[in-house]
Formats: sequence, C-alpha cells, structure tokens
Amino acid sequence: MRALLVLLLALIAGPAFAQEATLLRPDRVFDGENAEPHVGWQVLVRGERIEAVGPNLTVPADARVVDLPGMTLMPGMIEGHSHLFLHPYNETSWDDQVLHEPLALRTARATVAARLTLMAGFTTVRDLGTEGAGYADVGLKKAIEQGIIPGPRMLVATRAIVATGAYGPKGFEPGVEVPLGAEEADGDTLVRVVRSQIGAGADIVKLYADYRWGPGEPSRPTFSEAELRLAVETAHSAGRLVAVHAGTAEGMRRAILAGADTLEHGDAGTSEIFRLMHDHGTALCPTLAATDAISRYRGWNGQEPAPETILTKRRAFAAAMVADVTLCMGGDVGVYAHGTNAREMELMVSAGLSPARTLIAATGGNARIFHIDDRLGAVKPGLLADLVAVQGDPTQDITAVEAVRWVMKGGQVVREP
Ligand SMILES: [Zn+2]
Repeated sequence: MRALLVLLLALIAGPAFAQEATLLRPDRVFDGENAEPHVGWQVLVRGERIEAVGPNLTVPADARVVDLPGMTLMPGMIEGHSHLFLHPYNETSWDDQVLHEPLALRTARATVAARLTLMAGFTTVRDLGTEGAGYADVGLKKAIEQGIIPGPRMLVATRAIVATGAYGPKGFEPGVEVPLGAEEADGDTLVRVVRSQIGAGADIVKLYADYRWGPGEPSRPTFSEAELRLAVETAHSAGRLVAVHAGTAEGMRRAILAGADTLEHGDAGTSEIFRLMHDHGTALCPTLAATDAISRYRGWNGQEPAPETILTKRRAFAAAMVADVTLCMGGDVGVYAHGTNAREMELMVSAGLSPARTLIAATGGNARIFHIDDRLGAVKPGLLADLVAVQGDPTQDITAVEAVRWVMKGGQVVREP
C-alpha cells in the first residue's frame, strides 16, 4: 500500500519527486580499480548512489552541478586497521588508556576521532578492537548510522580475543583482576566467545596469534593452530571474516593455515611465509605507520639509518611485495592521530609500492578484502556515493591524498571546499 502511494506520488509530481541529482565535474576520476585516472570524466549521483560515470554526461534538468577544478575525484578511502577508541601513545600510554580512562571519556574522544577520520576522506573503517572499551564500538557505529554524529561507516571487531595470560596490561600482583585490552578465551571456549562477540555486534572477529608473554620478551605464539582453526570456522560459519594479529613467522604460519582472512603487522614474515600467504589468499595489513610512530615516540627523528624495528618492517613489506601478497591498506591508526590515516599510504609508497597500487589498496582493494565491494570502494554506477575530491593527482604524488577538499558519504556532502 505504501509502495503504491509512493509510486502514485512519483507519477503525479514527475521528476521533482525523484531523488536529488548532483553532477560532479573534477579534472579526473580515479575509479578505485584501474591504475590510470580518467581525465575529463564526470560522475552523476542520485540519492545515495552513483548513477552514471564517464565523459560528457548530459546534465539532467534537476541536477545541481559541482565543479571540482584541479581535483581528482576518487572513492571514499577505506581504513583497514583502526582503533577509534585509542589515541596516540605519546599523549597517554596504551596501559594508562586501558586502565585509567573512563569509558565515557574514551567514547567522547572516539566521536571526535570518527569525525576527523571522515573529514580526512576515509568514509569506511575496519575498527579492530576497542582495547578495553568493551562493546562501545557497536554504539559508536549506531550513533553514526543514525546521523547523531558524523563519522565513517564502521566494520567493528568489538572486544577482540586473546589467549589467557597473553595480553596486557601486565605487571600486577598475580591473581589480582585488572582491566584487559581484549577478552580471554582458550580451547573450546573460543567457540562461545567468538559467538558471543558476534551476537553483541561484531562484524569481524579479531584474534591475537602471538604477543609478548612478559615485559621485555619478544613476541611468541599464543593460540595453537587448532585453536585458531576452531575460532576461524566458528566465525566463518556466521559469515564473519577473521583478522589475526601476527608478527612472528610461526604465529603467521598458524593463522594462514587456520584460514584467517587478513594478517595484521607481519613484521617477522619470511619469504616462505609470504608465499604461503599468497597461496592461501590471505591479505596483509602491514601497519607501517604504527611502527613508524612508535619509533618516533621512542626518540627517532626520522633520519637514516632507521632503527632495527623499521628496517625489519621494510624488509617484510618488500618480501610481501615480491611474493605478490594481497596488500590491505591499514596503518593501526589510533597509535598515531586519527585523521592522519594517509601516513600509511605515504609509507607504502616510500617502501616501494606505486602510488596507483597504494590508492587501489585503500579503495577497491580493501573493499574486496573486506567483502564490501558490492557497494563500496569504486566509482561506478550502482555503488554507494562515498566519494572524495583531493587537490592534484594522487597517482603522480601520493601526498595529494592529504589535500582532501570535498567529501561525500552516501550522497550527502559532508565536507566542502
Ligand atoms: Zn591494532
């Protein structure tokens, strides 16, 4: 009945009743899938979706025209690894954020982080754990969806899952309960915890395959391969992808064989491990920017020779490229300031990936890895109109992605020049 009424109204009122159309005229369009930008292309948006893309589009009589001179129009970028509930560690240490910051404070701060992320052109984030802030990401996501606060679309991991005894904060009298940065589970309990997090709103399941068991120790594996497999099977059967924190070669190997969808960090990955990732179709989120930020917090001035952790990271990234591992764009933002997500992209280019491939990783690539490419990550008809205009041509100079001038999310302009 309601649908019939809407149809009748549309027939009587004609085009005036149709959804508002906007014709965008940038210098060029980077479509999120092809390395070459399309010079002179235009994009027609109607309602929340992209209706047409190409050269010389006819301007519908009802369309508003937006000229974006000197700019490249591209898909809204997708941050592959964020923590909206963390803020830079040089402001407050991770331990102090988890132990001493009230949930309301963390949530208030996260709303600001969400707005900064959107204004920087990142219209979607995969948020990989609240780090002790419980299920607050589910509520933050709802506040954004309901239009209460501006922010990106969110894929949330909620609390994340760690092996008992492996995660922090640490260093207290044994047996005394302290807040933890994630939820503990082992063996068969993993099934229950994966399901309870999904039931509470997790879009993705995040597991830690390795961690520092004690202060000053190197990372070592936590879950067995069988435990990881059980968790991955439980998540997959519920239609959830699995992200696994893995920095050691053995943690990575177990996670790949267990069927993880993405590995986070991958610092000690060897050529052999990256070949295994490639063969299993496991994507890597390198998080170069987090390592860079932490090194700077420890006093590195950015000059060469870089500290060993940076060199290790660069070697791993190079080995992953040689093995043709699918690269996610995800920097672990939150370790460094929200809204500076482009740092990861600039470091990917410094580490040898072309600007165009880096841009694809941040748009169409991440959309494919996160299984959202049916609606996001490209400039093509039928997809949601999440679009960003940057000054200059980022396929020539990646730093152009910092020069965001205009942002649209779901057909709504949220930032204007
Ligand atoms: Zn992280």
